Amino acid sequence: MKELHNLLKELEPSHTTLVAVSKTHPPEKIMELYNAGQRDFGENRVQEMIEKYEQMPKDIRWHLIGHLQTNKAKYITSWVHLIHSIDSYKVLKEVNKRAGNDKRIVDCLLQFKIAEEDTKYGFEPEEAYEMLRSEGFRNMKNVRITGVMGMATFTDDMEQVRREFRQLRNIFQHLKDNFFASQDSFRELSMGMSDDYRIALEEGSTMVRIGSLLFGERMYG
Ligand SMILES: *Cc1c(COP(=O)(O)O)cnc(C)c1O
Repeated sequence: MKELHNLLKELEPSHTTLVAVSKTHPPEKIMELYNAGQRDFGENRVQEMIEKYEQMPKDIRWHLIGHLQTNKAKYITSWVHLIHSIDSYKVLKEVNKRAGNDKRIVDCLLQFKIAEEDTKYGFEPEEAYEMLRSEGFRNMKNVRITGVMGMATFTDDMEQVRREFRQLRNIFQHLKDNFFASQDSFRELSMGMSDDYRIALEEGSTMVRIGSLLFGERMYG
């Protein structure tokens, strides 16, 4: 718990939200943080998040941080707290449809490709602007875009990481100015993981997604 308390102390001055990334870790370990007061947890696989949601206290706020396949949206829209990983018009449209069936408005972040690595998922800026201008998007009543998410390149070059976070912040600002100027709810900049969250904080992150620093090494298989 020392890690949790130290981290919360670091995040407090900027009121940054801590999303504890619990992927691969069992409910018992999640409960240790829960009992210390943590309520925001992040998972990157839908199936795993569903299983944990079903077993665990209902006041946990579940964040989906990994790719969402359109055919799985219907399993989470009635309870997910925030989807960080909207990476296409198609998936947003499906979340909107399913959230409508559940009579909910689901909060979503747009994920952008900022890393140099060849990542599969995430919008290019132009692609997102086009979506936000479209009639189809403006007719979506059951999703609310509350910000953006991105992952920096996995590298020791911290100046590169900083440049990428800055790029994401610029995209955030551009969206804010051009599409969400009148919406106070558009305010989340989800960036920063165990190895780079300090840089992310310096670059204006409002939400860090931290796994290994809190839970130790991940257990796969
Ligand atoms: C796993 C993961 C994290 C957390 O990574 P750590 O390095 O363990 O802190 C953050 N964001 C996403 C999208 C992830 O998949």
